Amino acid sequence: MPPKAEQPPARTAFLFGLGDELLRGDHADLNSPYLARILREFGYQVVETRVLPDDQPAMVRALREASQRASLVLTTGGLGPTADDLTRHAAAEAAGVPIEFDEATWQWVLAWYLDSKRVPPESNRRQALLPRGGIALHNVAGTAPGLRLALGSATLFCLPGPPREVEPMVERELIPWLRAQAPDEECRHTLRVFLASLSESQFADEAGPLLDRHDDALVGVTAKAGRLAVTITTLDRTPQAAQHRAEALQAQFVERFGASVYSLDEPDLEQVLGRELIARGVRVTAAESCTLGMVAAALGAVPGISAVLDETYGTYSNAAKTRTLGVPSAVLERFGAVSEPVARAMALGALERSGADLAVSVTGVAGPDGGTPEKPVGLVWFAVAWRGKVLLAESRQFPPASRERVRTWASNWALHALLRVLRSV
Ligand code: ATP
Repeated sequence: MPPKAEQPPARTAFLFGLGDELLRGDHADLNSPYLARILREFGYQVVETRVLPDDQPAMVRALREASQRASLVLTTGGLGPTADDLTRHAAAEAAGVPIEFDEATWQWVLAWYLDSKRVPPESNRRQALLPRGGIALHNVAGTAPGLRLALGSATLFCLPGPPREVEPMVERELIPWLRAQAPDEECRHTLRVFLASLSESQFADEAGPLLDRHDDALVGVTAKAGRLAVTITTLDRTPQAAQHRAEALQAQFVERFGASVYSLDEPDLEQVLGRELIARGVRVTAAESCTLGMVAAALGAVPGISAVLDETYGTYSNAAKTRTLGVPSAVLERFGAVSEPVARAMALGALERSGADLAVSVTGVAGPDGGTPEKPVGLVWFAVAWRGKVLLAESRQFPPASRERVRTWASNWALHALLRVLRSV
């Protein structure tokens, strides 16, 4: 039975890698990531990627399901001449149409063999079979023709397996088709929002309906150690309308996330911070324990930072915190190195010693050892002081996944804490 003609969401895609060899682990599915990148350029959202064995009933079931969940279904593999190449037959069955010998396609397969002065084996006739209503797609790098077919209200493209055959067919057949479907190229507008000090799940919780999919707006998010990049792509009938919609959506993110937003164009948090420090002539320093130089190194990566950076402090032991930053040993003994009073004293000490305007301190338990029930691995205290006063003191419990992750999260958090205070003074 052909699929119900239910309308799948526009510009959604379902990808299949077909073949036992993919499931056996003989090689990875290289085609799906390539196709996903191409589709993204055309504003498509890939809803699922699946790998299936050479099993016709399984393919038919999966193709029907896919055609109800996505407007475009792409398969690679299983178009060869042998009996286990079942994609054409599965496509015909899924679409509920007969499969027929197509003379024009056969002539094309023959020509391919003639070019290389060979005679095609009889089994190759299988490659000239075409589901009724389907369109054969020329393969310039192999004998297996591709196929385009309506599948319910979705469109199915069956492409060959080897990536060197897939790519030219995508260039010659899929991309022109995508272009023809897409609204005018200029009617797409992309804007970005960069956020820090948020995990991807916190972001998703707080963004709520802003992340809902709409046919004419696509929001993508990538996250790394507390830094998030949101890409907003809108489609409309005129470039101005697309831009207007993207700006409106971007403004909603800015309003929702306030101080977590560090930039609308520059992805590098340290560059944003560095440029604002330099532009305002604010002299900066850092006193680091658990990140030991990571905040300093990030500041050092900013061109021209020497205008506002004199020195920073790596104070690992309690003795160094007292000797270099003047943290009273009584405070260290009473509260422990990972504590709010010590973070505050480190930031104030760094300001006093360096003569800077703005200082951040970091003190935490990076792990994997050294955690206690009161101070588990991943607990980090931060303070930011501005001209003799502590304006921010806060702790975070980062996921204790690894020492490196805790330190990277903490360093990003500290850079963003500096930026938040800088923007508030
Ligand atoms: P042809 O008959 O032109 O080789 P085909 O459509 O029959 O194409 P398959 O028989 O499924 O393709 O696969 C042929 C070879 O292509 C595989 O042995 C493998 O090397 C490569 N291949 C197939 N699918 C993938 C994939 N998803 N990612 C990477 N390589 C693949």
